[in-house]
Amino acid sequence: MSERVIPIATPQADATSRTQGGAPSDCPVDGLALDEVRRLLGDVSQHPDLLIEHLHAIQDHVGHLSAAHLAVLAHEMGLAQTEVFEVASFYHHFDFVKEGETAPATLTVRVCDGLACEMAGARELLARLPRLLGGDVRLIASPCLGHCEHAPAVAVGRNPVSPAHVEAVTAAVAAGATRPPPQSLCDYIDYAAYRAAGGYRLLAECTSGKRDAESVIRALEESGLRGPGGAGLPAARKWRNVLAEPGPRLMVVNIDQGEPGTFSDRVLLERDPHRLLEGVLIAAWAVDIERIYIHVRDDYLGCREILANEIESLLLELPLSGLPPIHLRRSAGAYICGEESAMIESIEGKRGLPRHRPPYVAQVGLFGRPTLEQNVETLYWVRDIVEKGAAWFTSHGRRERKGFRSFSVSGRVKKTGVVLAPAGVTARELIEEYCGGMAEGEVFKGYLPGGASGGILPASKADIPLDFGTLESEGCFIGSAAIVVLSDKDDMKDVALNLLRFFEDESCGQCTPCRVGTEKAVALMNEPRWDEALLADLVRVMGDASICGLGQAAMNPVRMVLKHFREDLTGGDMP
Ligand code: SF4
Repeated sequence: MSERVIPIATPQADATSRTQGGAPSDCPVDGLALDEVRRLLGDVSQHPDLLIEHLHAIQDHVGHLSAAHLAVLAHEMGLAQTEVFEVASFYHHFDFVKEGETAPATLTVRVCDGLACEMAGARELLARLPRLLGGDVRLIASPCLGHCEHAPAVAVGRNPVSPAHVEAVTAAVAAGATRPPPQSLCDYIDYAAYRAAGGYRLLAECTSGKRDAESVIRALEESGLRGPGGAGLPAARKWRNVLAEPGPRLMVVNIDQGEPGTFSDRVLLERDPHRLLEGVLIAAWAVDIERIYIHVRDDYLGCREILANEIESLLLELPLSGLPPIHLRRSAGAYICGEESAMIESIEGKRGLPRHRPPYVAQVGLFGRPTLEQNVETLYWVRDIVEKGAAWFTSHGRRERKGFRSFSVSGRVKKTGVVLAPAGVTARELIEEYCGGMAEGEVFKGYLPGGASGGILPASKADIPLDFGTLESEGCFIGSAAIVVLSDKDDMKDVALNLLRFFEDESCGQCTPCRVGTEKAVALMNEPRWDEALLADLVRVMGDASICGLGQAAMNPVRMVLKHFREDLTGGDMP
C-alpha cells in the first residue's frame, strides 16, 4: 500500500467534477434530443424534485448526458439550464459530456480503491485489467462500492462481480452485455415467506386500533434503540420530536450509506426486505406521516430491484388503506448524501449540500415539512422490539450495554461480513468470536472502529466496548459500525492517506476549511516526511470550522496516526 493506484480515469476526471467550472452557456433546444427525452419521460411528472430521476433515465438510455439533453430537460421541467447542469455535474454517477468531448465507452468497469479493497489488491487489479478488457470499456477507480466483504469490489456496469478476481471481471465483460441486466446476488425472504412467518401482523394490529401509537413509541423508548451513524439519537426521541411538529409530516429512509467499510444496510435488505418495510410503515403510522421517501444508494442495484418488486407485491396483496404512499428514489453517487440534510436536498432534486442547522430536519426538512429521517437498522428492529417487548431487546448486550448492533467487518480477518453482535462487544471479541480470528499470517495491529471518519485505534485498545459514548474519550466514534481490521502488513501512513483521498474526492465543496483542507492534507501526506505541525493546524481548523461532519471528522485518521502509530511516521526509526 505504499503507492496509490494510478487510475485509468478517476470519477472526477470523468466529467463529474463537483466544481462548477465548464458550465455550458445556454444551449438551444435541439429537436432530436427533445423527441428522445419526451419519448423517454412520457407523461411522467416534471416536478423539479424528479430531476435526478430523469437524469438517470436519460443516462441509462443514452449512456451519458450531453449539453443538448440537459437543455431539453431544463426546457421540459421549466428549470434554468444552470440548475440542471449544477446537479448533473455534482454527482459521481452522471457522465456529463461537454460539446467537443468524446462520450465515455458503452460499458464502465469500476474497481473500488477504498481502504479494504486497496488492502485486498485493488491496485494490482487496476494495473492488470487494461490489457485484458479491450474494446469499448472504460475502467475507473471508484470510491467505496459497499461490497467490502468481497474486497476488492468490482462493478461491471452497475452489477457487482463477486468474487472479483481478474477472470470473473473479464468474463462479465466478455459476456457481451454492454448493459448487463440487474443482478441480484441473493435469495431473500419475499412477501409470501414473510407473511407466512407472521409478518405484517403487527402492522395490522396498529392500523386496526388494537395497539396505539403511544404504546409502540414507549416500547422503543424502553428498548433504548438508537440509530447508527452521526449522533446516534434514540429512535423514540426522533419519533416524538417529529410528532410534536404540525403536519403534514414526511418521512425519509436513508439507504445511502457510503461510509467506506460499511455494507450492513445492503446485507440486511438482501436478507429480509419486508422487515424493513414493516418498520417503515409502523413508524409512518405512529408519527402520522403523509408521504414516505426511500432513498437508495445507486451502487445497490440489487436492493433497489428487490425493494421495487416487494413494494409492488405488498401493495397488491395488502392494500394499505390509510397508510402513506412510498416513493423509491435513486441516489447518484455522493457520499455526502448519507448526511440527512444533504440527502433531503438530493431528494428535492438539488446538489447534495448539507444545510446549516438549526432548524433541524425534524422541524424543517423535506420540502420544508417536519421530517422523520431513519436508517435501515433502526427500522429493522421495530417489529421485534414491539412484538417481543423492550425487555427482550435489553436482555442482550455486554458490559451493561443493551441490545444488538450490526457490524460490517472487513480487512485482515478470516471471515469478513456483517456480524450481528450484542451491544458492548469489543473489536477483539468480534475478531476472535465472530470472524474466525486474523487471516493466515496476519498480526493484529489496529482497527477502524467506525469507518473512514471514526478514527483508528491500535490493537492495544481493542478491548473497548464498541458502542455510542465508549470511544469518544479516545477521540474516536462508532459511526456506522464499520470495523476495518489492520495488520502488521499495513503502513498506517498509507491507510490515513487512502482515507483522506476519499474525503478530498467526496467533499461537497461548500465550505473552505473542508474543500481546501482535505486537498492540502493529501498534498502534505504525500510527502515522504509529514509536516506534523501543519497537519495539526489543519486538524484544528477543519474540526472547528467545517459545516458538517465530513469536514469535522476528515482529519481523524491523521490525528490517530500522529498519536498511536509514530513508528510508521518515522519508518521504524524513532527519533
Ligand atoms: Fe461540504 Fe465538507 Fe463543508 Fe460538509 S464540511 S459542507 S462536505 S465542504
